[in-house]
Amino acid sequence: MIEIRNPATSEKITELKVSTNDEVARAVNRSREAQGRWQEYGFHDRAAFLYRFRDLLLDNREKMTDIVTAETGKPRAEFYGAELFYICDAIGFWAKYAPRFIKPKKIRPHLLKTKKVYSIYQPFGVVGIISPWNFPLALTLGDAIPALMAGNGVVIKPSELTPMSALFGSELAAAAGLPQGVIQIVVGAAETGEALIDSADMIAFTGSVETGKKVMRRAADRLIPVSLELGGKDPMIVLKDGNIERAVNACVWGALMNSGQVCSSIERVYVEGPVYDEFVRRVVESVKSLRQRADGNQAELGSMTSAEQVKKVEHQLEDAVRKGARILTGGRRPPGDGLCFPPTVLVDVTHEMAIMTEETFGPVIPIMQVKDREEALRLANDSLYGLDSSVFTRDKETGWKLAQKLETGSVCINDSLVNFVILDVPMGGIKSSGFGRRHGAEGIRKYCRQKTIVIDRLGLKSEPTWFPNSHRKTSALRSGLTLLFRSGWKNKLTALGRLFRG
Ligand code: NAD
Repeated sequence: MIEIRNPATSEKITELKVSTNDEVARAVNRSREAQGRWQEYGFHDRAAFLYRFRDLLLDNREKMTDIVTAETGKPRAEFYGAELFYICDAIGFWAKYAPRFIKPKKIRPHLLKTKKVYSIYQPFGVVGIISPWNFPLALTLGDAIPALMAGNGVVIKPSELTPMSALFGSELAAAAGLPQGVIQIVVGAAETGEALIDSADMIAFTGSVETGKKVMRRAADRLIPVSLELGGKDPMIVLKDGNIERAVNACVWGALMNSGQVCSSIERVYVEGPVYDEFVRRVVESVKSLRQRADGNQAELGSMTSAEQVKKVEHQLEDAVRKGARILTGGRRPPGDGLCFPPTVLVDVTHEMAIMTEETFGPVIPIMQVKDREEALRLANDSLYGLDSSVFTRDKETGWKLAQKLETGSVCINDSLVNFVILDVPMGGIKSSGFGRRHGAEGIRKYCRQKTIVIDRLGLKSEPTWFPNSHRKTSALRSGLTLLFRSGWKNKLTALGRLFRG
C-alpha cells in the first residue's frame, strides 16, 4: 500500500494498493488488446473521443482541482492556468495537427523514378508513460494525448506521490467513451516503473536525470525506444539594456510558479553590473509581496510537494550560506507549516555552490552579478543541464546571438517558460536534460514507428542489377557509375559512348 498525503497539511488523503508486477503486465496486455480497435477508428473518431474527454474535464474541473491541489499543495489558480489549460489546449492541438504530422507521405525518389515510395507512421502499440509529481495531470494524461492520437494504447505510471489526478482523469476518459482498456493506470514507485519498462513497447519518461539513466538501461535490455525529459538548471541573463521591470516580473514568476517545481524554472540569474543593484532590489520587493497559502484562491504560492525535495533545497541553501551567500528574503521553513517553503532570494553566489550547479526544484532565486554578456554566457553554459534559458535585452541582434550560443533546447528572449505552451514547436533538452521532445511534429512522431513502402511501377521481368551477371553488364555498370557521379562532362561523354558500344 502507499499513503497519499496532502503536503501542505500532512493530512492523509487515502491509501492505494501498489500494482504488482503481474498486474502491470496484465494492464499492458489489456491496453494492447484494445489498441487495435482504437487504431482502426482513425484520426477523426479518435479526436471526437478526446473532445468529449475535454468537455468532461471542464465539467468536472472543481473536483479535479480539489484532487490536484490536495495531492500537490499548489494553489487552484495555478492548476487552472497551467495544467488544465495545458491539457485542454493539447487535446485541441493534437486532434487538429496529428493527421498533418503523421499521415502517410508520398516521397519522390531522387533517382529511382520507376518506384512509388511512401513513408508512413504506425503506432508502437502500447506506450508506457512514467511521470513525476510536479504536474500530475499534464505530465500523465497530457502526455498521453499525442500517443493516443497516433493510435497507441497507453499505460500510465504516475508518481507515487500524486497518483490521484491520473486515476480520476482516466475515469473521465472512460466516461467519455474511450474504448475500455486503451488507457490504463498502474500505481507504485520504482518497481512498478520497472515492470512497465519490462512490458510496454515504448517508454516516455519524465523525471530526474538519475532515474532517466536507470530507465534507459532497463529499456536497453529489451531494445525498446525511450524518450527522456529530464531535469534542468535554467539560466536567465539580464543585460544592462534590458527592460528591467519586465525582467523582474518574468524572473519572479518564472522562478517561483508552482513553487519553483518546474523542469524549466529559472534557477540561476546572471545580471550585468550596471543594473544589478536595481534588479536585486526590485526582485526582493516583488518576492516579499507574494502571498503563500496552501489553499484558497488568493495565493501566488502554495506548498512544495515532496519532502525529499524540501530537504534538498534546505541543504543547497545551507551549503551556499556556508560558502558566503547572503539570503535577502525567505530561506527558512516556518515550523508546522507543512511543506510550505518561503520564496527565497540570495546573492553573492558562485559556481562553487550546489545552488548554482545542481537542480533546485524549489522556490529559490540565486542572483549573480556579471561584468559583461560574455561572462554571463560562459556561466550560463557552465552546466551539466541544457533544458531552457532566457535572455533580457532590447537589442534584437544581441538577443539572437546569445540565443544561438546558449547550450539549451529552448531560449526565450524577453520572456520565460512560455515555450512550454507553444505546442507547435518541439520542447526538450540537450546535455543531461535528456533527448526527448514533446510538442511539434517530433512530439507525436516519437510515439510511432516509421515504415517505408516501395511499389514497383513498371512490372518488368527483371531489374538491371538482379542476377545473372555478365561481362557486358559489369562494364555497363562501371560506365553507369561514371555517367552518374563523375564530375566533368568530357568524362561523362566518354562513359556514354562506352555504354552504347557495350
Ligand atoms: P523521479 O526521477 O524521482 O521520478 C519520476 C518517475 O519515475 C516517478 O513516477 C517514479 O516513481 C519513477 N521511477 C523511479 N525510479 C524508477 C525506476 N528505477 N524505473 C522506472 N521508474 C522509476 O522524478 P520526480 O522527483 O518525480 O520529478 C522531478 C524531476 O522531474 C525533476 O528532475 C524535474 O526536472 C523532472 N521534470 C522534467 C520535465 C521535462 O519536461 N524535462 C518536466 C517535469 C519534471
